Amino acid sequence: MGDKSASRLPTVVLVGRPNTGKSTVFNRMTGARRAIVSPTPGTTRDVIAQEVEWRGTSFQLVDTGGLFGASEDPLHELVVEHGRRALEAADLVVFLVDGREGLVPADEEIAKRLRALGAPVVLAVNKMEDRRARDRAMEFYQFGFDPVIEIAAEHGIGVAELLHEVVARLPASHRERGRPAAEAAVEGRLREVRVAIVGRPNVGKSSLVNRLLREERVMVSEVPGTTRDAVDALLRWHRREFRIVDTAGIRRPGRVARAGDIEAVSVLVARRAIARADVAVVVIDAVEGPTDQDAAIAGEADRAGCGVILAANKWDLVKDKGADRARALDEALRLKMKFLDYAPVVHVSARTGERTGRLLELIDKVAEARRLRVPTAELNRFVEAVTTVHPPAGEGRRAVRVLYCAQTAIEPPTIVLFTNVATKLHFSYERFLINRLRESFGFVGTPIRLLVRRRGRRQVARADGRAG
Ligand code: GDP
Repeated sequence: MGDKSASRLPTVVLVGRPNTGKSTVFNRMTGARRAIVSPTPGTTRDVIAQEVEWRGTSFQLVDTGGLFGASEDPLHELVVEHGRRALEAADLVVFLVDGREGLVPADEEIAKRLRALGAPVVLAVNKMEDRRARDRAMEFYQFGFDPVIEIAAEHGIGVAELLHEVVARLPASHRERGRPAAEAAVEGRLREVRVAIVGRPNVGKSSLVNRLLREERVMVSEVPGTTRDAVDALLRWHRREFRIVDTAGIRRPGRVARAGDIEAVSVLVARRAIARADVAVVVIDAVEGPTDQDAAIAGEADRAGCGVILAANKWDLVKDKGADRARALDEALRLKMKFLDYAPVVHVSARTGERTGRLLELIDKVAEARRLRVPTAELNRFVEAVTTVHPPAGEGRRAVRVLYCAQTAIEPPTIVLFTNVATKLHFSYERFLINRLRESFGFVGTPIRLLVRRRGRRQVARADGRAG
């Protein structure tokens, strides 16, 4: 009503040292959705402010320009003063850093100021398209701000995710009434899941695809895939959308005449589909049991970072043979695919349709798990607890201590452990930790990448030398 504070737009302040790309980010954020440009009372030309609307939520985005870093500008003091005021009024801060440069002392200064400020901080690591950024970006996780979003503003990459994270952290009263958060969550889940159905010839891939496409409540349309001869099928099931990739490859198995080649071709076809997929359904013939070839195909999925489900097909031919038979098959599967202990197994029949609904549910679940992001604080608490009881084993002699950790990526979930020594974790310890993470956070059916980095001060030292 007349209450000014309630109607005031929340203020999001963009800070970062010079040349991190603040203006580019500012322009991308304001331009991402028809920005309403209006001069804001109380701001000067030194502090640029613009209203941004994202998915029904509006906020004022303020660029603090030259607040941090030296300037030749005679008006610099004024800029700093205005910037400081803007910062103090912030409901949320977007702290922009340069992934290509890595962490420099000026960033630490800013981090210190922001911590003292107390407003929530979203850390955006820019210029991630640069190869050098891939390693250096990790240094920024040690600030402990959460979330960390990796972006390439010049290319428009990651800006939508950044906006999403910003809006999610604004005071709830400012979020648009017509679009509750729950709806946004559903929207996120509705994103298409790409599924590769792969396996040796004659295990029943095309029968299974045809069965899935005939499933009750399924709506199907065929759409061109990425390559000339690839055809995808879009399958809408409940509120989810699955894209079965490369169905043409499935329906025309082995155009090659020589029997030995057919097997090799099926791995190539599988590899091509897997490269485009979120989840791979590796179809196995339940009558024959798992073979080396099955394991080779499943291995492709694991290496590609796909989610994996093992579907033992032709279950109609096996199920009457007793529970022992089922157990024996599962044991054989686990034995043959030791490295895939995380992949759920489902017994299906393309012929009768048995448990194909369950298969669709599993695909959805695995796709979600592959997109899980564990908050940094929670992850650190967990890893600290685990490594206290079971100290990490490295490959060298020195004791390994995990100083902090962060999940740096999803699809597949990637977790970086920053340690006191440069080492690799012992294979068995890595496995142990991955399994614990999987159980505790629900990473069902997805590979987890674990990276170990020595906590680096390299950039800091280098920048100090340069300054002197
Ligand atoms: P693909 O080469 O992997 O695509 O295999 P197909 O779908 O062409 O199936 C190979 C053979 O297995 C065909 O004769 C199918 O009828 C048969 N088949 C597929 N799925 C099942 C099933 O669930 N049960 C039984 N009994 N036969 C199946």
